[in-house]
Amino acid sequence: MDFSCFGYHPDLESRLTFQEKWVLVFTRVRLVTQCRQPDSASRAAQKRRIILLSLKLNYTESLVAHQLLVQTLPGDQFRSTRWGESAMTNKMLGRSAQARVATGRRPVVEIPSSSQDQQGVVHADNPGGAGLRTSSRPIAHGLRPHTAVMNFIEGARAITESELQANNITQYHATNFYRDQITNSGYYDQLKYIVEPTIAEFKSPGSLDTSGEHDNTVVPGLQHKYAQTGLLLVTDRCASYCRYCFRKRIVGKDSDEIAPDFARVAQYIAGHPEMTNVLLSGGDPFVLSTAKLGKILDHLLPIPHLESIRFGTKIVAFAPRRFEDPALPALFRRISEAGKTAVIVAHFDHIGEISVDAERNIRALRAQGVQFLNQSVLLAKVNDDPEILAATFAKCHQMGVRPYYLFQGRPVKGASHFQVSLRRGIEIARGINRRLSGIQKTFKYIMSHYTGKIEVLDLGADGRVYMRYHQNKIPEELGKVFSRRHVEGACWLDDLPEG
Ligand code: SF4
Repeated sequence: MDFSCFGYHPDLESRLTFQEKWVLVFTRVRLVTQCRQPDSASRAAQKRRIILLSLKLNYTESLVAHQLLVQTLPGDQFRSTRWGESAMTNKMLGRSAQARVATGRRPVVEIPSSSQDQQGVVHADNPGGAGLRTSSRPIAHGLRPHTAVMNFIEGARAITESELQANNITQYHATNFYRDQITNSGYYDQLKYIVEPTIAEFKSPGSLDTSGEHDNTVVPGLQHKYAQTGLLLVTDRCASYCRYCFRKRIVGKDSDEIAPDFARVAQYIAGHPEMTNVLLSGGDPFVLSTAKLGKILDHLLPIPHLESIRFGTKIVAFAPRRFEDPALPALFRRISEAGKTAVIVAHFDHIGEISVDAERNIRALRAQGVQFLNQSVLLAKVNDDPEILAATFAKCHQMGVRPYYLFQGRPVKGASHFQVSLRRGIEIARGINRRLSGIQKTFKYIMSHYTGKIEVLDLGADGRVYMRYHQNKIPEELGKVFSRRHVEGACWLDDLPEG
């Protein structure tokens, strides 16, 4: 089938699957046929233009495409078109039509990404600048500062592109599946903070790289902080964007921290026999097509000393039907036939995120030999409650997903308002342990610090916080127990005075 009549760029066409192309074509055509052009020739010209612009997806072009829509559609129709666009993304990810139901809540404005789909990404972001309302000033292709109206949980605010960048504000996007899940979970008032922006992000101090990822990067895209583990950044995209993400500097952006050359990555790993496992992360590796993941594995599986391939993913919460891809079993089979273990590290922060679809897919993948772990982040207003976290971990255990890290929130610029004090975190960890049986309490309360992974053990009667190095760059420091004087309100190791 020749898709060129719809304005596809040949490079892009070659990276999309047949189904994805059709979904895009279908959605774009439906979108444009709603435009009120006087004659069919004008409609056809505009159709081509919008298709081209929206597929290129850079910021300025998205805004131009948006302006075209605003000029031709009444506001209500444009808003409904936005949801149509998201439905397209749903289809691309294999979700059903039912998943398109909006939450009933006024949607938060989405900020278009500048994604160019250079890596076979099955895009979960929102093409075409959908959802962005620009100022009434004409757009002059980047010559004037852009102003958008962004809906925060606290209300709408006009904001410029430079303000967004200066404050490290991640683009907004949540899958319709996740919107439905959190609305129907009964925990909307907690879970909304995971994906919906708040004004607090502007006043949230911190750094962009709290655990020294730059310093541990050994070849582009590969970090080697702990001897046995390689951390491979395979994409800067996620299915939805978590407001608390510690990689805000990367996600939803065109980051140069993503591995551009997997042959070079494999060459480094092959020369480091102490590295026994690789964690594919990003971004979320499962936004990549299964074919693209397979190409990455082409480089990793021949390395004899790699014993396991881990995938860190929150798609199991955001779009669990991604795991119904019929090509996935063969991918995991390749890993096991290469003598390695496939491990999926899920990311459920709250029991309300564990959907029926997630459980079904996890059980199916476990039956194929995939091991599952879960990591959670302790988040103010979301899960800073031992009852909630104990229920989350118990549910994980029941599904065969081993809870292994409860991360202390990091002091990330734009996300440090999610931090819970160490005093409260220790109380919560104790409360979780009180509620779980021996075989369920497999988690460690961890601070992922520049110096290493630090297990937070206790706040002693002597007013000191006791900790232990679970991982450390310096092997002699591993397992070392140490303490620091507690300071009220401290949330991070650096808040505790030495000595
Ligand atoms: S899915 Fe993971 S990488 Fe993506 S925004 Fe959420 S926490 Fe960050």
